[in-house]
Amino acid sequence: MATETYVGAIDQGTTGTRFMVFDHSGRVVTSAYEKHEQIYPEPGWVEHDPAEIWEKTQSVITSALQKADLTADQLEAIGITNQRETTLLWDADSGTPVHNAIVWQDRRTTDRVEELEAEDKVEWIRGKTGLEADAYFSATKAEWLLDNADPMKMQRARPADVRERAEDGEILFGTIDTWLIYKLTGNHITDVTNASRTMLFDIHEMEWDEELCEEFDVPMAMLPEVRPSSDDNYYGTTDSEGFLGSEVPVAAAFGDQQAALFGQTCFDEGDAKNTYGTGSFMLMNTGEEAVESEHGLLTTVGFQRSGEPVQYALEGAIFVTGAAIEWLEDMEIISNASESETLARSVDSTDGVYFVPAFTGLGAPHWDGRARGTIVGMTRGTRREHVVRATLESIAFQTKDVADAMEADSGIEMTTLRVDGGAVKNNFLCQLQANIVDSTIVRPQVDETTALGSAYAAGLAVGYWETLDELRDNWQVDREFEAEDGKNVARRHERWQEAVKRSLDWARDGSD
Ligand code: ADP
Repeated sequence: MATETYVGAIDQGTTGTRFMVFDHSGRVVTSAYEKHEQIYPEPGWVEHDPAEIWEKTQSVITSALQKADLTADQLEAIGITNQRETTLLWDADSGTPVHNAIVWQDRRTTDRVEELEAEDKVEWIRGKTGLEADAYFSATKAEWLLDNADPMKMQRARPADVRERAEDGEILFGTIDTWLIYKLTGNHITDVTNASRTMLFDIHEMEWDEELCEEFDVPMAMLPEVRPSSDDNYYGTTDSEGFLGSEVPVAAAFGDQQAALFGQTCFDEGDAKNTYGTGSFMLMNTGEEAVESEHGLLTTVGFQRSGEPVQYALEGAIFVTGAAIEWLEDMEIISNASESETLARSVDSTDGVYFVPAFTGLGAPHWDGRARGTIVGMTRGTRREHVVRATLESIAFQTKDVADAMEADSGIEMTTLRVDGGAVKNNFLCQLQANIVDSTIVRPQVDETTALGSAYAAGLAVGYWETLDELRDNWQVDREFEAEDGKNVARRHERWQEAVKRSLDWARDGSD
């Protein structure tokens, strides 16, 4: 009997790296995970060591294969999914990073973004990239690295200026997908979804934008080639002399949220998913049209298969959802995340309490960096159960605000919403969400949809899976939550919006 073959997915996230191996039915055969160091050189700055990320990537691949007694030859392809926007530069000759990677959360370039705002460049940037001008995206991070990375540290005979060397193609730019593709295959390539988060890429023309590169003083010679997320021509293969000892095609890459959209098989226009982790990210496939948002959402590339048109998506990013549950734990209001469900069920309402967990400001659709956490409506009778229930309601109401914005922008009515992420284990939250958005909430069996999405894209590229229908067939429902007539949902949503208003524009520089 022929040896069984599989597809592997590298899921390189903000806190750690996972390698998962999937079989033909989309089941997880083996996996391994390792964390990496979070480096905080100054308040508001966050860095990762790219060399450590590469080490951990090799190590999780090796140990996952070992655990299941598999050989690299049994992998038909590898796909990559990654933390988005995180940016690094490396030396083309030695493959050595010239500085730590600047992580998406890093705020060091906020002043530069304020400059863009003062110069009225926000609309211009949105028009080309679909993004809100923000330090979150790669452009200002690359600019900072080119200005500040120390050439003396590059261990080169010729310590020329970093930007000058970048102009000569001696220094390369990449997001984490690009870094891993480079290390695995030796080729300098990114995929369309990651390119769409750099703020240097025109999502309509689907190419690096000369004017934006000029604005941020990023030499175009240092940018990677942009390829489909699922690429029949592969980005390259691993080296038979390398750590895997085998030539495995690296055939797909995806930003993490786009990978989850693909893993949830949201292949058609109007399909939407929401991932509930530390924060939440709702993405809706808008088909071949890049829908411009008038309600505070981002327009982004959803995915592209070789030889097929680009599929766009609308994205709503909510900063704090699961993290509000973590805050309840830190405050010792609950002892673990799952207790939130029991406590919320033990009362039949929040007794008029609303909690807006705007700890780091509010993202979509409000975009207010000065909003702060606010609890309103408390009385002498308020108990912790009410606050806990209000916290879960805040996750559902924030999602409702983003879902409303999405329906308004796309003109598509959302009848079902596919969910994933750590917080969807909470059945109370899922039912509440169904009632509040008045849609069916569908939770799949495999909750590692991010890794699954990149495995699917890689497997399609090499013919391990032939059609999208096969993948649709693999997708299995764990549980569906039908919208029930929740008590006074419309009125409670109005009250929630009033609570949001009270949280806005609270933080002031230098005073509390
Ligand atoms: P990330 O990928 O952002 O690290 P995960 O998808 O692993 O996040 O989800 C972790 C988040 O889910 C945490 O913020 C945690 O508080 C939340 N969470 C986990 N279990 C529950 C639960 N039963 N109810 C509500 N929230 C939960």
